[in-house]
Amino acid sequence: MQILDGKAVAAARNLEIKASVQKLTAALGRAPGLTVVLVGDDPASQVYVANKLKACQKVGIASQALRLSAEVTMLELKTVIQRLNADAAVDGILLQLPLPKALDAEEAIGWISSKKDVDCLTAENLGLLWSGRPVTTPCTPWGVIKILEHYKIPVAGKRAVVVGRSNIVGKPMAHLLVQADATVTICHSKTVTLREHTLDADIVVVAAGRPEFLGRADFKEGSVVIDVGIHRKSASEGKAKLCGDVRLAELDGVVRAATPVPGGVGPMTIAMLLENTVCLAKLSIPKH
Ligand code: NAD
Repeated sequence: MQILDGKAVAAARNLEIKASVQKLTAALGRAPGLTVVLVGDDPASQVYVANKLKACQKVGIASQALRLSAEVTMLELKTVIQRLNADAAVDGILLQLPLPKALDAEEAIGWISSKKDVDCLTAENLGLLWSGRPVTTPCTPWGVIKILEHYKIPVAGKRAVVVGRSNIVGKPMAHLLVQADATVTICHSKTVTLREHTLDADIVVVAAGRPEFLGRADFKEGSVVIDVGIHRKSASEGKAKLCGDVRLAELDGVVRAATPVPGGVGPMTIAMLLENTVCLAKLSIPKH
């Protein structure tokens, strides 16, 4: 089984992004800028945001986190987002999800200018993506496509199954695979015969958010398995370990290739966030 090393692919990608950022900084007279809005103190979100800021810093993107209290009102959040929409030094706005339960994430996403929507979550940008004219592309599914491209895994004409139908991963993943000419099935929590579908697929992207729930018996010989899931396993002693939605160790000798967790899709998601920030910053270069 070949291990698809997302960490290495992301590192190579980040070097290219760094070069683009240098050129853009010269053209704009400032560094491209990303602002992350973090509401509340969800521990996993704190870690994700810290990793995103660190990655920005490494490639020269000017990044900041605006930390808002979990008690912030919708009106206060709207004011913050509108201020960022109007700030010429901010190219990308990332509203870190999930928001505290009292807040309406869908409504808040709708306040982000589509020209600064770095996660491709607004209705306008999703519509443009769906019609094949993307401004930005959802980071995680785009990262998956880049891994497949890097390892020259054929997608056109293949049967692909996406397990999960969230707006941020499953649905756009299925769309990007269709764009790459695969024949795609989306499975979800109400799918009755999941294994029948996964066993029939050449490529399976698993984004169900269920720790280690698929294994050897779920995949066809020679298939390619992409594990999007990230879970913290509680460790009895020492540091908590990460795992995915797939029991990777079982797949050796069965599947052709698979992504590990950590070190698979996660680093690519961050690389694509940087890439989307660059895409949005390019939009603000004055045209003659
Ligand atoms: P989500 O909870 O919004 O969606 C999960 C989807 O899985 C749902 O559509 C649901 O219908 C489906 N599902 C649940 N149980 C199922 C089952 N038994 N059979 C088939 N389908 C089932 O989650 P999400 O935001 O799409 O994220 C999915 C996973 O990916 C999570 O573990 C999340 O932490 C991880 N994630 C990782 C990255 C990354 O960078 N690696 C990015 C985003 C999300």
